[in-house]
Amino acid sequence: MTGDTRGNNVAIDVLGVTKVFGAADSGFRALDKVSASIRQNEFFTLLGPSGCGKTTLLRLIAGFEFPTEGRILLDGEDIAALPPFRRPVNTVFQSYALFPHLTVAKNISFGLEMLGWPATKIASTVERMLALVKMEPMADRLTDQISGGQQQRVALARALAPNPRVLLLDEPLSALDFKLRKEMQIELKRLQGETGITFVFVTHDQEEALTMSDRIAVMSAGRILQVGSPREIYDRPTERFVADFIGETNFLEGEAKVAGDRLLEVRLDAGATVKATAPDAALHAGRTTVAVRPEHADLVPGDGPADLTGVLKNIVYFGTDTHFHMTLDNGVPFIVRQQNTPGEGSGFSIGEQVGVRLHADAAQALKD
Ligand code: ATP
Repeated sequence: MTGDTRGNNVAIDVLGVTKVFGAADSGFRALDKVSASIRQNEFFTLLGPSGCGKTTLLRLIAGFEFPTEGRILLDGEDIAALPPFRRPVNTVFQSYALFPHLTVAKNISFGLEMLGWPATKIASTVERMLALVKMEPMADRLTDQISGGQQQRVALARALAPNPRVLLLDEPLSALDFKLRKEMQIELKRLQGETGITFVFVTHDQEEALTMSDRIAVMSAGRILQVGSPREIYDRPTERFVADFIGETNFLEGEAKVAGDRLLEVRLDAGATVKATAPDAALHAGRTTVAVRPEHADLVPGDGPADLTGVLKNIVYFGTDTHFHMTLDNGVPFIVRQQNTPGEGSGFSIGEQVGVRLHADAAQALKD
């Protein structure tokens, strides 16, 4: 379950790590008591807006920076004393940092030569890496004579070649155009699966995080707010920031009473009384906010039974689905997203009185 890793093999344990840049008392706190357990062989993503501390956490794991407080364990051992090149960790940067005057094959072999590997082992590894990233036909090209996507593949091959236990990836796809980026997302996921290496991937792109990760840590302002599978993060956000940052969300206020284990009954200000799943921190009586995803509700005609009622303000067609923007009777905005059926209009028009039926389990209570 979620962030709990007991019983699993942990690759990296981040234990209460704080990073202050500048003077310890007056400097900038880029990370504030961050803890996370990253499992062996998992695709773990740090997701958050610019400046939230993702790169700083990656640099601490790599050994380019040192924690102000806290510890980082790799396979159970404190790695504080190990310089970056002695850690069984490799990094792929946003700028691929390839050697332009060397061939694709030489870019991959260079680091292995520095490590003092025997020539036969280097040759077979380079061959294997070229096949892994599907770059065999370009082995002898200079890296300034290949495309951005191909350069990215070479950077990955180079980082994977020494067979690190952990690969850190700092927004490695951000320089690629949309289509190539989508292709490389699938490619990266495949590489992670095939090599079995633990990937720690940094992105500010929520869709990228949802499609690629085994688990996601959502970060904001130097803290990890929630760790969970993509589905847990999307369906069961525990905080307003997480619900808002990932996907689109409706927020409804109401008066709650505890109705069971992880369950609240919430009398919404907008009308209905609903059951809401609640994380421990939100499991209390009184004022509460619930999140409802736009696709977890159905739009119905205004004269039928409904949980919420209001006026339709806008209809936005997206090809696969349509977004209906409403204002509820208590003045709060609400969006319903419905799948489109080919050849059929939505049957609703702007200005119309409409109702909303919430799906069972649609409401998720958030921490205060
Ligand atoms: P982005 O997505 O923009 O790369 P990020 O989440 O990776 O952002 P970090 O690069 O980790 O963010 O930076 C976190 C905060 O720490 C930022 O406000 C940044 O300005 C600050 N910071 C990072 N490195 C240093 C440094 N060496 N000295 C001072 N402040 C720093």
